[in-house]
Amino acid sequence: MTTLATHLARLDTHLARFRDSGILNLIDGQDVAAANWFETRSPVDDSLIAKVALGDAATIDAAAKAAKAAFPAWAAMPGDQRKAILHRIADLIEARAEEIALCECWDTGQAWRFMSKAALRGAENFRFFADLAPGARDGQSLPTPTHWNVTSRHPIGPVGVITPWNTPFMLSTWKIAPALAAGCTVVHKPAEFSPLSARLLAEICHEAGLPPGVLNLVNGMGEGAGRALTEHPDIKAIAFVGETKTGSMIMRQGSETLKRVHFELGGKNPVIVFEDADLERALDAVIFMIYSLNGERCTSSSRLLVQESVADRFHDMLVKRVNNIKVGHPLDPATEVGPLIHKTHFDKVMGYVAIGHEDGAALAAGGSRVGDQGWFVRPTLFTGATPAMRIAQEEVFGPFLTTLTFADEEEALRIANGVAYGLTGYVWTNDLTRALRVSDRLEAGMIWVNSENVRHLPTPFGGVKASGIGRDGGDWSFEFYMETKNTAFALGHHKIQRLGA
Ligand code: NAD
Repeated sequence: MTTLATHLARLDTHLARFRDSGILNLIDGQDVAAANWFETRSPVDDSLIAKVALGDAATIDAAAKAAKAAFPAWAAMPGDQRKAILHRIADLIEARAEEIALCECWDTGQAWRFMSKAALRGAENFRFFADLAPGARDGQSLPTPTHWNVTSRHPIGPVGVITPWNTPFMLSTWKIAPALAAGCTVVHKPAEFSPLSARLLAEICHEAGLPPGVLNLVNGMGEGAGRALTEHPDIKAIAFVGETKTGSMIMRQGSETLKRVHFELGGKNPVIVFEDADLERALDAVIFMIYSLNGERCTSSSRLLVQESVADRFHDMLVKRVNNIKVGHPLDPATEVGPLIHKTHFDKVMGYVAIGHEDGAALAAGGSRVGDQGWFVRPTLFTGATPAMRIAQEEVFGPFLTTLTFADEEEALRIANGVAYGLTGYVWTNDLTRALRVSDRLEAGMIWVNSENVRHLPTPFGGVKASGIGRDGGDWSFEFYMETKNTAFALGHHKIQRLGA
């Protein structure tokens, strides 16, 4: 059985090499000597994990050039060969899943119980898109009486992938696997707060036989390496996951070079519990969807909308459970909530506790720091909020739930839709026609009825309003990473206008 002590010992072995050499950028299949460094620190105790190569515009330029040079051969490689390489990557992720999960927990503060699954999910992402690679170029035949129209798809070129610090490994594979399957080459700029697992992924890809230059890793700051990537003329598209305001910046930065962009941004997702719902199951889902992954999750249900007639009962059940959630070391298998990613984010989340008080909502659980080392926050619950309050409008991105009540379906929809975001929505009711009506009118890209967030990889993933642009998943990913071409073959018997005859 694994324990905190065994996890710490194994982590120590894995980190030893990074303590000596630091985390280097990897361009054109080679480690790049670093001129400048920054540090990654553990959210558990703020201790130094490793120094990290600080990429800048020149590093991005080298990576983009490598991606451009590698593109023609990778794009031309038959899909079944790309498929075989991507499956080998998945095999190696599985073989190193424990190492990836241990590093991710230590780097991000996410609890082991979730990260061990997230690493394996990364392998699944590679397998899923590997199997789609041979058919990625397939098109349609759209004949008319005069022309035979045939569509085909072509990889767009070298692309930039910019990822955040929450579940960084899983999210990176979710972007990089379809890009590679489509025949694109990639420059990956991971979040500066969680560089460990991105380095492991780049190593794994090369070990699996990915040709040099097909995946390039550049660590650095958003304003430096990130910005340079979005502005680089050789990079044809940017797949970005992060904050809404960063998405706006990237759109501006990429406008000069007409970047195609795909944005997965913030959320303030509602979970609506109607009086006829299975309240026990709804309670499990409500708690899971805001307190798992430290609430640092774009799809978290951070607003609970509960029908007035059952609100008191539901809140009583909720408070008991929230007070019971185990906060602790992320590598302890018993831990349910670990520390937040860094001090600035901890200050932001604690700032929302003060805002909740000022707004006049009632603190029903948590709201305080745990211990005096690391960025641990007690799972927090505010009840009695009203829709205009900041804690009911703004993304907190922590273990922080705001609850509101509603009288009827109309009011529930008004509150649910009355925010800037529209990523996910969760509906709990046993009335089928109500489920259909409400899910139809909810402004969100993804809705789950009587369920927590369960992803099926072929389904579309993405948000509306300030939560994003575009969809991922299945063929939707290829729509982003590929260009569609139509070729019209004349059947030769239609009349062509004769000018100048
Ligand atoms: P962030 O926007 O601060 O950073 C994300 C990435 O963008 C980092 O790699 C960062 O270095 C880079 N970046 C920052 N400024 C940049 C610039 N000017 N140009 C180019 N790159 C730049 O986000 P974060 O704090 O790391 O992540 C949390 C956010 O991500 C939350 O808002 C969360 O909701 C969102 N998120 C959304 C989804 C989704 O699927 N919708 C998934 C996960 C996270």
